[in-house]
Amino acid sequence: MAGTLYERDSSKRMTYIDWDEYFMAIAFLSAKRSKDPCTQVGACIVNNDKRIVGIGYNGMPTGCSDDEFPWKRGPHTSLESKYLYVCHAEVNAVLNKNSSNVKDCTIYVALFPCNQCAKVIIQSGIKTVIYMSDKYAYKVETIAAKRMFDAAGVMYRQYIPKNQKIEINFSDINWTEMNQLPQTPTKQED
Ligand SMILES: [Zn+2]
Repeated sequence: MAGTLYERDSSKRMTYIDWDEYFMAIAFLSAKRSKDPCTQVGACIVNNDKRIVGIGYNGMPTGCSDDEFPWKRGPHTSLESKYLYVCHAEVNAVLNKNSSNVKDCTIYVALFPCNQCAKVIIQSGIKTVIYMSDKYAYKVETIAAKRMFDAAGVMYRQYIPKNQKIEINFSDINWTEMNQLPQTPTKQED
């Protein structure tokens, strides 16, 4: 039977991360770019070929300085709190897309999307939302988001991580061996 020999001899590494872990970890990694002192959220949009087509994190709009605009919490209508200004990760991920559209894509997010992001998700054609935490399930924003997702046929499911931690260790690469590569000859001084 074709392929049998290779299957028997295969010794592939079994500790690799699966697709859900990979894309959720990318959402979490991009959240680390956020300047928000309270909530760092990242989002990663993936198409049906498992290609990443958009990444975003919560931040001030372009041109609105991270140092001049307020980051503090407070009344949602206050000009001195962040809410009127910050772009959520989901919106940034949709706007940052590197494909012509995000139709039928899946979005990975740390937090269940708010109602404003839900509108953008629906209107952009995203069909699935995979979230990690639904800690604001009681808020009207989340209830409204779910109501819209249900009506629009956007599926959503919670991602339960298999591992509590994915470590990125820059010393996993064997630097020493790399340093033994032949040196490029330096130009002789005249
Ligand atoms: Zn939002």
